[in-house]
Amino acid sequence: MQTLESLGELRGKRVLLRADFNVPLDGSTITDDGRIRAALPTLTRLLDDGARVIVTAHLGRPDGEVKPEFSLRPVAERLDELLDAPITLAPDTVGDGARQAAEQLGDGELLLLENIRFDPRETSTDIGQRHALATELAALAEAFVSDGFGVVHREQASVFEVAKLLPHAAGQLLATEAEALSRATTNPQRPYVVVLGGSKVSDKLGVIKNLLPKADRFLIGGGMVFTFLAAKGYEVGNSLLEEDQLEAVKGYLDTARTSGVEIVLPTDIVVAPTVDADAPSHVVSADQMPGDEIGLDIGPESAAAFAAKLTDARTIVWNGPMGVFELPPFSSGTKTVAQAMAQASGYTIVGGGDSAAAVRQLGLDESAFDHISTGGGASLEFLEGAALPGMTVLED
Ligand code: ADP
Ligand code: MG
Repeated sequence: MQTLESLGELRGKRVLLRADFNVPLDGSTITDDGRIRAALPTLTRLLDDGARVIVTAHLGRPDGEVKPEFSLRPVAERLDELLDAPITLAPDTVGDGARQAAEQLGDGELLLLENIRFDPRETSTDIGQRHALATELAALAEAFVSDGFGVVHREQASVFEVAKLLPHAAGQLLATEAEALSRATTNPQRPYVVVLGGSKVSDKLGVIKNLLPKADRFLIGGGMVFTFLAAKGYEVGNSLLEEDQLEAVKGYLDTARTSGVEIVLPTDIVVAPTVDADAPSHVVSADQMPGDEIGLDIGPESAAAFAAKLTDARTIVWNGPMGVFELPPFSSGTKTVAQAMAQASGYTIVGGGDSAAAVRQLGLDESAFDHISTGGGASLEFLEGAALPGMTVLED
C-alpha cells in the first residue's frame, strides 16, 4: 500500500481521511473510545505537518437518512478533548455546509464531516451512485488517506471509490493492522490457536471453514458454540442456534477430525432462564442443558481447559467473547480466557469490537496483547486470506 510519504509536502494540503469512528454510544455518551484513540497517530501526524484534515466516518446505521441520534457530534467533542488542534463538525456530509467549512479550514485544523451514512449513496449497490458521492467527497480535498481499518472490507464510496479519484495512501493504523495481522497469515508460528465466540454466528461459522486449513486448534465458546453442541446431538434449550448451519458444522467437525485439527468445545455451560444479571444462573454439563434455559457463558471447567490450551500456542487469534460478558454473572469465561491469552508467550491478536471492549471492560491490561484490532469483520476477512477492496485500492 502507498504510504503517507508518497503524498509529498502536506502543509496547506487538504487531505480527506476515512476513519472508523463507529463507537458504542449510550445516548450521546461514548462508552468505549478505543476506535477514536486508534485514529490519533495518523491525525496527529497530518495536523502536525500542517495538513488541512477533512475526516469522513460513519456512526451506527442511519440507513441513508439524516437522523440526529447518529450525529458524529459526540465524536467531534471527544476529538476536541484528545487533540490540540482546532476541531469543527460540518453541518452536513458533502453539502454546502461541508464545502464552505472545508474551504475555510486552516493549516493544522480538522474538519469532521457529518455521518457519511446519512447519504444513501455511501452503501448503495449501484456503482454509479457510489461514484457520484465519491466525486463530491474528492472535490473537497487534494489527497486521500484511508485509515478506517474497520471498513476496508467494504466496497463503499468513502472507502473504495474515492481512493480511485485522488492521490492516496494508507494511514498508520491501516499499516499497523496489516503488519500485525500478517503474522497470522504469512507463516504463522505454530501451534496457531483460534478462539472464537460472540453472537454473529453465521458470519463466524464461515471463518472456521476458511481457517480450518490454516490453524492447528480452535477453542469455541460464545453464542456460536450451541450450533456445535446441537450438531453433536445435544439439547441446547433456548440458546442461540443456527439450525440451517447444522449440516455445515457437522462437516467442519469431520474435516477437522480427518485433517488433525483440534476443535475444543466446552464441557460445561452457565445457563439461566433469561438474559438478565439477576436471573438465577447455574452451571450444567454441556450434554445436559435444560430445555427451557439459555446458555450464556462457558462454565469454569471449560474456561480452565481453554486457558490450558493457550499456554503452548505460538500464535493466538481471539474473536468473539465466550459469553455475555456485559453481565457480571456471565463474564467469567471471557475473563479467564482473555487472562490466559494475556499471559501466553505467543503472538496474540484480539479481533472484534466486542472482544476488544471486553478486554477493557474486564480491567485487563491492553498492553499485554500484541495487537488489538479495531476491525471485527475486516480482521476476520484478512485472516481468512481474502483481498480487502479498501486495501488493494491503495496499492497502485
Ligand atoms: P465481536 O464484536 O468481538 O466480533 P460479536 O459481535 O460476534 O463479537 O459478539 C459479541 C456479543 O456476543 C456480545 O455482546 C456478547 O454478549 C454476545 N454473546 C456471547 N456469548 C453469548 C451467548 N452464549 N448467547 C448470546 N450472546 C452471546
Ligand atoms: Mg460485535
